Amino acid sequence: MKPMFAERMDNVPKSFIREILKVAQDKDAISFAGGLPHPGLFPVKELELATSKVFESASTALQYSNSEGSAELRNHISRRYKEKLNLDIPISQILITTGSQQGLDLLGKIFINEHDSLIIEEPGYLGAIQAFSVYRPQFIPVILENDGIDTKALKKIFDTHNPRLMYTVPNFQNPSGISYSLEKRKEVAEILKYCQTYLIEDDPYGELRFEGNAKPSFKTLLPDKTILLGTFSKTVVPSFRIGWVVAPEEIMDKLIIAKQAADLHTNFFCQLIISQYFNLFNSQDHIKTICDCYGKQKNAMINAINKYFPSGINYTNPEGGMFLWVTLPEGYSTMNLLKISSKNKVFFVPGNQFYVNRTSDVNTFRLNFSGLNEKRIDEGIKLLAESIIELLK
Ligand code: PMP
Repeated sequence: MKPMFAERMDNVPKSFIREILKVAQDKDAISFAGGLPHPGLFPVKELELATSKVFESASTALQYSNSEGSAELRNHISRRYKEKLNLDIPISQILITTGSQQGLDLLGKIFINEHDSLIIEEPGYLGAIQAFSVYRPQFIPVILENDGIDTKALKKIFDTHNPRLMYTVPNFQNPSGISYSLEKRKEVAEILKYCQTYLIEDDPYGELRFEGNAKPSFKTLLPDKTILLGTFSKTVVPSFRIGWVVAPEEIMDKLIIAKQAADLHTNFFCQLIISQYFNLFNSQDHIKTICDCYGKQKNAMINAINKYFPSGINYTNPEGGMFLWVTLPEGYSTMNLLKISSKNKVFFVPGNQFYVNRTSDVNTFRLNFSGLNEKRIDEGIKLLAESIIELLK
């Protein structure tokens, strides 16, 4: 009998995170598993006002629109790149997508033939692993060190492979919270300069910096070969599903065709609301409020870890974003830890979800600090520490 589904779906991993989120819905649960922005920080009143303004031009706002996305919104994105990163991005190089997640899918669609090699950080973003898996690449994972990807291992890959793409989240990576140092950025750019590989720089968290100074984008260091992904999910709201891709013109033409084939265009109504929101309000002030809040939550988590965790456990201490990464002593399974901690209704994501080629359990896990207030973070880390002590016994 013929298989029911297409082969391309064979190895696409399930989102384990969505599964955990279902059990973590219980109102007594303390979940560090999600990757959700803090709902108390949504600019609700502002979006309400922006929406009523958009309704004043309802006949345009409710109509089909162009595939590239609203020119006004793309102008705003272009201006913001200039202000924040001193990048000159013409709006012809910006495509609005249905979340940056769709950007990943469209890039997979236009670039990846079955078995093409694709470099990915280890650990790497699960949503990217899912999106690319549909196109059946050969993933080449490269270890993420504390200051960015292992560049010695990266260089070696090019002796034997000619990868189509390299995917990276250089600022406050999901899942690890790690950011690339300037040196690592320069080394990566130098390695890729002479290859045919395009670098996908996925940057949903760059603006969520609560400490330290911003580092240059790969778009500055490797301008012709970098494809940038951005999103308003973390700085405005995720439900609108408004993200974007920045790509050189020759790539943009193909991307637009893929975008038309996928969904004609991104929700135009929500694009207009976000544009109006930027016209009417100071979004930079709002981002500052988010950063202040997440900075406090991150500190609460680090303080609680220091207070309650037993010795011998490593963790990252990110300067921004929404996640940190914990490493238990060698040989302990964080899937087993989850079994213990879920009895106390404390949830997190075990590290094996973020590795492409590992079937066995690992000793790492991801904690999210943006979704809970400081008191709940302290309570949850205390309970988690008890579970770790039980596991290590
Ligand atoms: N890339 C990374 C690294 C992410 O963490 C996320 C959100 N979890 C996305 C892309 C997708 O974001 P969105 O589709 O909401 O823009």
